[in-house]
Amino acid sequence: MHDSPITVLAGGVGGARFLQGVVEVVPAADVVVVGNVGDDVEPHGLHVSPDLDTVLYTLTGWIDEDKGWGVRGDSDRALEQARTLGADAWFWLGDLDIGLHLARTEALRRGEPLSAVTARLAQRLGLDLTLLPATDDRLRTIIGTAQGEIDFQTYYVRRGHADVVTSIRFDGAETARPAPGVTEALRDARAIVIAPSNPLISISPILAVPAIREQLAARTAICVAVSPIVAGRALRGPAAAMLESLGHEASPAGVAAIYQGLADVLVLDEQDAELAARVEQLGMRAVVVDTIMRDAAARERLARAALDAAGIAA
Ligand code: GDP
Ligand code: CA
Repeated sequence: MHDSPITVLAGGVGGARFLQGVVEVVPAADVVVVGNVGDDVEPHGLHVSPDLDTVLYTLTGWIDEDKGWGVRGDSDRALEQARTLGADAWFWLGDLDIGLHLARTEALRRGEPLSAVTARLAQRLGLDLTLLPATDDRLRTIIGTAQGEIDFQTYYVRRGHADVVTSIRFDGAETARPAPGVTEALRDARAIVIAPSNPLISISPILAVPAIREQLAARTAICVAVSPIVAGRALRGPAAAMLESLGHEASPAGVAAIYQGLADVLVLDEQDAELAARVEQLGMRAVVVDTIMRDAAARERLARAALDAAGIAA
């Protein structure tokens, strides 16, 4: 790990695509990713870390680019067989993907912390950047709906994020400690970037670890956030609906309000240029660029804009 890294807080697909751009602009060895574990789930006793895996697969070329998650060309014979034999297999797991979950679960059962397992999986897959789970402790996103609270993947996958979200909480966060390396990565960073990930379910679970939030609030490095909301919409997933149902504005201004005190700059899309003044009223510099990561060139352009705003010359 670089002793003065560029530290990126990231969720799954939006975070991983942004990171593909980041490693085109700065050496991957300089980048530390602090990843979300609030989505983690244990289908059939296997420990799955969807957001860490999306980063892992995307940055090592294994990703299914069309879906944005999972292994390209993966089959689902194991899952089909499980279903045939009566398993309630609602969480999709590809065959190769299951291989990774077997390796992870075995190591966790032996008592290895998630951060150590993640580092080994990353090394075996040839990941060039450092990927740290926010915490090794158990932290789970719990979604409130009209029918009561449900765990994150029940909300997201099983019920297709169709419920109106009335609350979000992060079970275990209060007592969770940052995984080894996370505090240092924030404290010693040259720059901190919050990827265009869902602020409420990808970034907030990271910030819910008290020592992480405190370290970010006390940062000496500049922190640049990138808005995942463009023209009132999320580019994928339920971010916009969720922001609205929880009383936030589904706009870069709403995102800026969530990151107030934690970010110094917000990168927002040119379609939202008229909101720059409102972002600046919240105490953040607004940088207006094309933030749509339609292809590799666009991902690199967006990463360059964010890193430029952080004063990283590349
Ligand atoms: P997840 O954990 O897989 O849901 O992924 P993230 O939380 O990292 O990313 C989801 C967020 O990425 C959504 O809120 C999207 O709006 C945002 N997103 C996806 N593609 C783009 C893009 O091209 N540009 C921007 N600005 N945001 C994007
Ligand atoms: Ca996620």
